Order: sequence, then structure tokens, then C-alpha cells
Amino acid sequence: MVNIKHYVVAGLAALLLQISTFAHQAVAQANGTVKVADGIHAFSFNGYTSMFVIGDDGVFVVEPVTTAHSKEMLKSIRTLTDKPIRYMVHSHNHWDHSGGGQVWKDAGATIIAHEKAVAWIKANPNPRIGLVVPDESWSGTRKDISVGNKTIELYYFGTNHGLGMTVFRLPKEKVVYIADLVSPNRLLFTIVPDFNIRETQRTLAEIEKLDFDKAIFSHSGPVGTKADVAAIRQYTDDLKAAIFAEFKKGTSPFAVPNTVKLPKYKDWAMYDQWLPMNAWRVLLDGWMGPFPWDPNAESYVVPARAAK
Ligand SMILES: [Zn+2]
Repeated sequence: MVNIKHYVVAGLAALLLQISTFAHQAVAQANGTVKVADGIHAFSFNGYTSMFVIGDDGVFVVEPVTTAHSKEMLKSIRTLTDKPIRYMVHSHNHWDHSGGGQVWKDAGATIIAHEKAVAWIKANPNPRIGLVVPDESWSGTRKDISVGNKTIELYYFGTNHGLGMTVFRLPKEKVVYIADLVSPNRLLFTIVPDFNIRETQRTLAEIEKLDFDKAIFSHSGPVGTKADVAAIRQYTDDLKAAIFAEFKKGTSPFAVPNTVKLPKYKDWAMYDQWLPMNAWRVLLDGWMGPFPWDPNAESYVVPARAAK
């Protein structure tokens, strides 16, 4: 008997792969590993970039993405070191970033995510992508993890994109890893899914206060700087301003997303394709009020976050 569900699932998987490839081809980084600083590497595969850190006590991995991505990254790590994989840490909950955990579990790593990401992963299992429930969760706004001589700082900035979004910083080397919140030289992703626009802007301003010289981004990278963070924040502000300017002119809200133009960003990837979608999302956030909202997130919005 034909298993319709199987075809639907297979079709969906193919579609998602197409979307992912399409989304990232414009600013595609070559597959493989780039050394960013001593012991710090960016690993890219099919439009997604992870980070791994080799300390004298073992290896710390951020962002498994998929089973295939994780297997390739592990191979790449093994060409550089035979030290044990100590930790694999998730940036946030979304399936397109959080698959492949089983590869790291099999390699002996402790899998960690922020408690908000862990709660979501538990509620939304997906064995097809090798999603595993993390062994440990962390809570609050800051945590440090060391692999011998390398210390990695974990930051949680409250509501922004997805759940439990963690930004990573290596204080000595002045390197950060940022998933999804910033994709340099590219418009915001399609309909800006699961982003609270206002809180993301607040988060970007807070990230800019951190002390770092180099940034590894999950997309459109792999390596950039603080200027890339500021540029995305500025783009969002400019888009908001352009939308309000159309309102002032008397343009119908329904016509605004196809009317706004931001020629300053015409050379950014996906400018023609995604500008109306970006505009719809930013318009709706201003119209309906910021969403999505996590009522329990207020306790995480702390006034001072030590960056030293
Ligand atoms: Zn995401």
C-alpha cells in the first residue's frame, strides 16, 4: 500500500532543502573549515556555519544543524585534533539548526541548550533530523564553559528570535558566534519568521556593546565584524522609517509592502525577492504590537550584562 505520509514527508524534506539552498546561495560560503583565531574554527556546509573550539582539554562545538553537517564537521575536527568532544551547544531551538545531535552524543559529547530551547525541543520531537533532547540545560543570562585553556561565554538576551537564543563569545580571542540574528549583506530572512522585531533590535544593540573583533555568523559568512551587526540593525530601522513615510503619504497599508524601496541596500542579497516580505513583517509588528512574546521572558531582561 502506498504510504502517503511518507511521500508528504519526503516532499517536504526536499522542499526545505531547496528553500535552504535558495536562501543562502546568494552569499554562499564555501563548504569546509576556516581558522578564525587560535583554536577557533568556522565550519560551513550547505549554507549553514557552525563554530568549534579546540582547547587543551577537548573540543567545544556550537550548532549541529543536520546529521550530514555534523558528520562532516566531526570529520573536519578529526583532521585537526584527536582530543575528546566535550560539549555540543545549541544556539536556539529551530529544527533547521538543531538537528544532528545524535552524531555528537555518539562522539561522547554532553549536549547543552538554554532551558527555553530545551523545553521547546522536548515539546517538538523530530527524530527525522536526529534531534535529541539535550543532556543539560542552562538558565539565566550568562554561563561560562571551559575546555582547558579556552573559555566560552554564553549570553542569553531575552526574547528576540526563536527560544533560548544563545550568543557565544571567546573573551581572550575576541570572537563571537551569532546564529540567525545577523546575516551580513543580505535582507532579513523571507517573512522574518519567529523574530520579535523590536526585541531583536534591542538585542543587536546589546551585542554591539560586547567586546569582540570577529564574528562567525550562521549564514552569509562565515566571518565578519561588529559592523555587520550594526548594519542589520540600521537596515531594520531604515525599513521601519520607510514604512512610516509611506503611511504619512497616505499609502494604503496593504500597498505599502510593495511600494517601499530602500536603494541603499539594493546590492544586498535577495533585495528584490525579500524586500516586500520583510516589509510585511515589520509593518505587522508595528501594527499589531511586537510578537511573538514570551510572558516569562521579562525576568531575563536584566539591565546590566557584564561583557568583561
Ligand atoms: Zn532560527
